[in-house]
Amino acid sequence: MTKEEFINHNCKHCGYLCKNRKALGIHLRLKHNSNLQEYILKFYLYDKWPECACGCGKKVEWHKCRNQFNKFINGHNSIVSEAGFGNRPYYLTPEQEKKKASAVKKAYQKNGELIKEKISNGVKNAWKDSKYREKMNNRNNKRRINNNKNKG
Ligand SMILES: [Zn+2]
Ligand SMILES: [Zn+2]
Repeated sequence: MTKEEFINHNCKHCGYLCKNRKALGIHLRLKHNSNLQEYILKFYLYDKWPECACGCGKKVEWHKCRNQFNKFINGHNSIVSEAGFGNRPYYLTPEQEKKKASAVKKAYQKNGELIKEKISNGVKNAWKDSKYREKMNNRNNKRRINNNKNKG
């Protein structure tokens, strides 16, 4: 979205044709008492301030000279390539990536089954428990009823 250059862009407020990003910025300021930042936020980001692309969850700054949102917080750009958080870590060959992907998949499947097992056992135990409790309650109730009958 921040790549949007607004070439021959129709203003979303009034439909006015703007030649480029700069023209749109000027138009917004003159005609709508607004600016590109507000415009992008409102129409492209649904009023949600964009966050750093490294995934840290922090809000990026508006780049005044470029008239667009920064993609990263200062310095986080390099963290991404160093830690390999990007889409494609530079130090893995395609072969290595394949291996890594399948290893992750296997680990996930294994864990997934374990988790499923744990959950079903937990459910069984809880079920047994509640049935047992129910029985005990019924017995107690019967006893109470019998006691009452004996009293009366
Ligand atoms: Zn307009
Ligand atoms: Zn970040």
